[in-house]
Amino acid sequence: MSNEQQRSTFTLDGRRIAFTPGQTIMDAALAAGVYIPHLCHKPGFAPHGSCRVCVVRADDREVSACTAPAATDMRVESEVADIRALRVAVLQMLFAEGNHVCPACEASGNCTLQAVAYHCGMLTPRFPQRFPRRAVDASHPDFILDHNRCILCELCVRASRDHDGKRVFAVSGRGIASKLIVDAPSGRLGDTDFSADDAAAHVCPVGAILRRDEAFRVPIGRRRFDVAPVSRVGDVQTDPDVPAGAAEVLP
Ligand code: SF4
Repeated sequence: MSNEQQRSTFTLDGRRIAFTPGQTIMDAALAAGVYIPHLCHKPGFAPHGSCRVCVVRADDREVSACTAPAATDMRVESEVADIRALRVAVLQMLFAEGNHVCPACEASGNCTLQAVAYHCGMLTPRFPQRFPRRAVDASHPDFILDHNRCILCELCVRASRDHDGKRVFAVSGRGIASKLIVDAPSGRLGDTDFSADDAAAHVCPVGAILRRDEAFRVPIGRRRFDVAPVSRVGDVQTDPDVPAGAAEVLP
């Protein structure tokens, strides 16, 4: 190994991780096969840093692993008690902000939020439930858009804009008033050019964008995260350019 290569490493929980200039902590960790919990990050997508689930401590500062650049000899802590507790608190806030009833949700077992919560050991609520009144948009022939489960990760926004060459989705408003909107004067998904061929149709990490014809075709108990933890199988879909219908659902 050359001196240059030897310098391009940092430590993650004591393990040396190689990186190339420009990689984030998350990029380098995933490339090395080390899982850092995340929701709004997806390989092939521009970093977003909104969910904060990937919080790590880098040289004594809390940062988002998906946006913080890797640096030589940086000391990163991820699987330590106080960082784990921070992550659980972030997850508990995400659950409290929406209407998540996992046992009755079509996405259960395929949902990254649920899977990450299990991975992080989030077993109970902590914050008062907000029970927001949100709409279910059933105007599209192939998809249901259920705002109750949206976590505003903007993966569909980025997929539609950056991979599909459309701008079907956007987030409007600020703070607690933020919400996902669609590009149609009526505000209805069915009045957009959203299609099952879109990458945006296959990136939702929760049950906010649901295919009508999937439902419980694969029974709960045999779904992606029912059979393997998220730390092993990763996101719902890792390649944003996978064509329609190719989103992996384990038999
Ligand atoms: S979207 Fe995920 S976290 Fe929310 S209710 Fe469905 S399975 Fe549970």
